[in-house]
Amino acid sequence: MKITEVECLVIDGIYPYVIIETNEGVTGVGESFRRSPWVTKAAVETIFKEILLNKDPLNYQGIWELLYNAASTCGPYGSLLTAISGIDTAIWDINLKKEGVPLHKKLGKKIRNSIPIYASSMKRDISPEEEADRASFFYEEGFSFYKMHSAYPEEVDSPRDKTLKTVEAIRKKLGNNIKIMVDVNGGYSVKKAIEVGHELERFEVFQFEQPVHVTDLEGLKCVAESLSIPIASGECCYTVQDFKNLIEKGNPDILQPDAIKTGGITEFKKIMSYLGKREIMIHNTQPLISTAIHLHFLSINNSIKLPLEYNIEQNSLIDNPITKNSLNIESGNILVPDDNSFGLDFDISIMKKRAKII
Ligand SMILES: [Mg+2]
Repeated sequence: MKITEVECLVIDGIYPYVIIETNEGVTGVGESFRRSPWVTKAAVETIFKEILLNKDPLNYQGIWELLYNAASTCGPYGSLLTAISGIDTAIWDINLKKEGVPLHKKLGKKIRNSIPIYASSMKRDISPEEEADRASFFYEEGFSFYKMHSAYPEEVDSPRDKTLKTVEAIRKKLGNNIKIMVDVNGGYSVKKAIEVGHELERFEVFQFEQPVHVTDLEGLKCVAESLSIPIASGECCYTVQDFKNLIEKGNPDILQPDAIKTGGITEFKKIMSYLGKREIMIHNTQPLISTAIHLHFLSINNSIKLPLEYNIEQNSLIDNPITKNSLNIESGNILVPDDNSFGLDFDISIMKKRAKII
């Protein structure tokens, strides 16, 4: 089998998808994290495409190493590994379609048919009362964990921060019925994170995520050692080596890998096996391939008890689907798909029509 074409489509100007065609007529669809779609497209089409053409997609490990080494010359992190994620997941899609099996079958034995999810609110511009109303809505829908994003990463220790007021409003509305998680995406200094963290302890917050800048691992360790509530981090780790570094230097309680950032399934698989029985809460903010891959991984794993992240914001991929089927969500759980590959049937002609160019 040979790769004959590689393209990155930026759907609705936001979501990067990699399409890989082969000489046997099997087409792979892969997904990348959404933060830098045009960098992803440029990386896929100007750095990696040339390397991929005429390669055998069945050799996914060899291809991953070629791409990773090519990226190393200009710094393999962030955007370039995110671009590799789209390619690697498309290559896995080709492999799984050729074999005619769902991803979970390649990973092990499925022991769970449905996976609990948590409601992840992404808005920083709503009032504490509005956030409490949202939490209440999702609680009524069957969700038992709710994550709020607060503080202002672009303005460390901002006086506008309303984290504690928001937590208080949710507790006032729902008592201790819902587990609250607070993600500040590095919006605090170490001192402020410890100060706010002690208040979060008082509110019995379940998890405090990325309290300080992602590069400040010493600071993270200091926050983790000062507080009794669990500290979470890992969404900006891209390889096994990054997780080793995070654990050694930052020592967070909960680790958060994400397959569409870690260079795809090939490295994610190694990361999951490296993390073993440590506390894991998978980072997941996109509703299609990302969510599906994480469901397949969680379906073969009984030791990860924490729910999978589910972004509750409006999303054009849900409102106006690019797939002919969808994942089934029921009372705070998603069913693990059993169809071939990821379990999603993409309509590539619709995707091409919705792909924006700049
Ligand atoms: Mg986060």
